[in-house]
Amino acid sequence: DFPILAQTVHGKPLIYFDNAASTQKPRAVIEAQRHYYEHDNANIHRAVHTLSQRATHGYEQARETVRKFINARDAAECIFTRGTTDSINLIASCLGRSRLSTGDEVLLSELEHHSNIVPWQLAAQATGSKVIATPINNAGEILIDEFTKRLSLKTKAVSISWVSNALGSINPIAEMIRLTRRHAPNAVFVVDAAQWIAHGVTDVLLLDCDFLVFSGHKLYGPTGVGVLYGKRAVLDALPPYQGGGDMIETVSFEKTTYAALPNKFEAGTPNIAGVIGLAAAIDYVQSIGLADIAAYEHDLLQYATARINEVPTIRVIGTAASKAGVISFLLDGVAALDIGVKLDEAGIAVRTGHHCCMPLMKRLGVEGTVRASFAFYNTKQEVDALVEILKWIAKNHKPAAAAPPACAMASPQMINAISFAPRSAESPKAAADALAEDIALFDDAAGRSQFVIDLGDRLPKSFGQLKAISQRLPGCMSEVYVIGRAKPGSTNVLEFAADANADIVRGLIAIMQRLFSGQRADDVRAFDVEAFFRRIGLDQFITTQRRNGLGSLVAKLRQLATDIATKEV
Ligand code: PLP
Repeated sequence: DFPILAQTVHGKPLIYFDNAASTQKPRAVIEAQRHYYEHDNANIHRAVHTLSQRATHGYEQARETVRKFINARDAAECIFTRGTTDSINLIASCLGRSRLSTGDEVLLSELEHHSNIVPWQLAAQATGSKVIATPINNAGEILIDEFTKRLSLKTKAVSISWVSNALGSINPIAEMIRLTRRHAPNAVFVVDAAQWIAHGVTDVLLLDCDFLVFSGHKLYGPTGVGVLYGKRAVLDALPPYQGGGDMIETVSFEKTTYAALPNKFEAGTPNIAGVIGLAAAIDYVQSIGLADIAAYEHDLLQYATARINEVPTIRVIGTAASKAGVISFLLDGVAALDIGVKLDEAGIAVRTGHHCCMPLMKRLGVEGTVRASFAFYNTKQEVDALVEILKWIAKNHKPAAAAPPACAMASPQMINAISFAPRSAESPKAAADALAEDIALFDDAAGRSQFVIDLGDRLPKSFGQLKAISQRLPGCMSEVYVIGRAKPGSTNVLEFAADANADIVRGLIAIMQRLFSGQRADDVRAFDVEAFFRRIGLDQFITTQRRNGLGSLVAKLRQLATDIATKEV
């Protein structure tokens, strides 16, 4: 049913274990969207002509499909949004403008995704209210006693993920709602169901939540569409979120009145095709049955947990008693990013990094993890393949990568000990041509990334020293430190030293050094790094640049070159 899964990646059958980030789409969803565009496409709610009627009908039918799927009382309580993030922003913003004020509290948990933190911080800043995070234990479970202690008359909203995206912990959401009703009667309860929705049965009446939000793309549906369920009385009491077409009853320059639910919260032309695709996705998962999906995935998770623990040096992060199909892990001495790169070469897609849960990573004392997240199309054989590669990585990885430990203070000896790379060629262009020639010898991704890692092996190990004397570059999957200067004795030549704690990034730093260190600042500024990485077939490190430190490294080097060129250093 999933055409995309039939492909090979780097010559290996694709194994897709990044379902918590986004699921693949069955043919039924792709076809529903295609059918809509080929037959029914028009704007909704606005015209008498046949296409508009059909589009409107499809859109409103989809709302009814959502209603039944989550067992809402009324389809008008199901608002279409762009996704979970959009839904939470809507709730936080509208509560901020109507219900939150100085001294009020919004209760979250340490497990939350940034999407369920930052919108609340924005609302808190605007209203003088306070965001509080209830703690978890080391297994990644919310401590219910601690949660209860934090509920009070001051609590105006509680927003908790049903399932943690980073660890897979299933939170006792029904119990938390009951406790909230008892101890915080002024609070609305928001369920972030982004990671639950595709993995179990949802019944908003049974839960008795005020809001429940989810994204289409994590439910085998399209991106850019999601749902905000809200109890009618609670939604009615909120001010509108955005203004525009479709959300009004009448408009005049003197006074505008707003449409009834659900239109009040759906300003502008929505993602009609996305909504139709989402309904097709819901029909699709229901034809399989969410209870069966949950049972299959539970079995797969148990199998995978047992097998992955066979890998020497593995550390599973998140061992809650109740878990959805997510395994986060680390291998001793291997950067998560390097594991991700190696797995990709084997055709296995996982996510590495902080999973948009920086506070959770800090609480667990890790920079990030590798996360394998399952869907019902994954199999035990695929888990076996993952385990085999992990065993291979654990056995073959050279532990020297991370270099000396960081020191608290920089000493003059440390700074003197740093070697600033000399010029590798006449100009950045000449260095680029030489590198391109070398790399052209490799025609597959594995060969190219090994070439990069080998370059990194020759980079002087100055991680500890650089960490002590410079700020970490913003970047998510590895720690990168860089210092630069005008070459002593010159006024316009850039020199820099950099290091990272992931092998692949060390290699990329080595490439950047060959290109730029010892070169004239103006030449550095003029050189098109992105085009060069495309030319040598390593543009994945550019397109994911925010995630591995390279983007900020490029920006930092350009800044240093500009400072030198304009004589600021
Ligand atoms: N909440 C949780 C628990 C998530 O896992 C995610 C996405 O990973 C989000 C919110 C944000 O979802 P989206 O990016 O689809 O808006």
